[in-house]
Amino acid sequence: MTVGTVERRMVTGQAIRQAHEGSNIMNGQTASIEARGLTKRFGSTLAVDELSFEVYPGQVTGFLGPNGAGKSTTLRMILGLDRPTAGEALVNGRPFVEHERPLFEVGALLDPKAFHPGRSARSHLRTLALSNGISGERVEEVLDTVGLAGVGDRRAGGFSLGMGQRLGIASALLGDPGILILDEPVNGLDPDGILWIRNLLRSLASEGRTVLVSSHLMSEMALTADQLIIVGQGALLADDSVENVVEASGHNSVRVRTPQADALVMVLAAEGLSSREDNASQLMVDTGSTDRIGELAAHHGITIHELTLVQASLEEAYMELTHDSLTYQAEAFTSLEESAA
Ligand code: ADP
Repeated sequence: MTVGTVERRMVTGQAIRQAHEGSNIMNGQTASIEARGLTKRFGSTLAVDELSFEVYPGQVTGFLGPNGAGKSTTLRMILGLDRPTAGEALVNGRPFVEHERPLFEVGALLDPKAFHPGRSARSHLRTLALSNGISGERVEEVLDTVGLAGVGDRRAGGFSLGMGQRLGIASALLGDPGILILDEPVNGLDPDGILWIRNLLRSLASEGRTVLVSSHLMSEMALTADQLIIVGQGALLADDSVENVVEASGHNSVRVRTPQADALVMVLAAEGLSSREDNASQLMVDTGSTDRIGELAAHHGITIHELTLVQASLEEAYMELTHDSLTYQAEAFTSLEESAA
């Protein structure tokens, strides 16, 4: 499916998902969004490369990748706004365009400036509500939810990016949909706004809704998402829980304090475990298992004062996974600059 390095590093689903291989069910839940071999080409650019994944209710699923990785294009294909070159995307088992009342099934935020600048937030939402048979009461409810009730009569054209994002989210929530798809909703937000979106997404998921949210910010997704779908150059790099993505990055290590560091280094090396000395009595060992080191030390009569698992951060796991895509982009950029010179 993808080039060798990407394939080797790919993190595949949990045992539970393998048990249902080929189906769209996980933990008894049916997938609300399914991508099957989704592919999109723009001329010579392969924007999305045979992407297959499922998104489930009751969770926040982070859709992650560097800029240009194909996230927006994938979301647009799910929403029927771009036609796939190959493959398909299903929402509640059917292509999005086949749904009779789409606003009630999926709420989407793709562009935070998708409103008439001369209209007020309230009038924008009322127009949208009217054309979809939604009550004026619901407009007031969503204005309140997104914290725009006090400025609902101001011209939306004068809104900051953050207020625009809030208005976009209000539009997405209008039909009280079971599925929310948000493209980079924290872009341009201040820390208060970021915290607000994080809490909102978590509470929407806890109500049993499906929340698919794209971002290029791993640190933010680490705090918001349960599940991650990571893409690079349009291809799937990982599809797993936040914990498993970190674990599979293979960057966990164990800190060992021992008065017999030299002896332990030799024992570890004989077992194929590499380590480095932080100082005379402290080693960092490249493994995720404290048990193994403890047992080896006991077997060789080596005194241990501390054994601590040091977990890789999600940021490190992400850098590791997307490294090839970023290198590729940097090289492409350099060669473009060179040919322009
Ligand atoms: P992301 O959302 O991850 O930043 P995009 O889906 O916007 O990535 O873009 C993926 C790739 O497809 C990029 O190389 C981008 O330049 C290209 N692309 C996106 N939309 C178009 C388009 N309408 N025409 C040509 N190329 C496009």
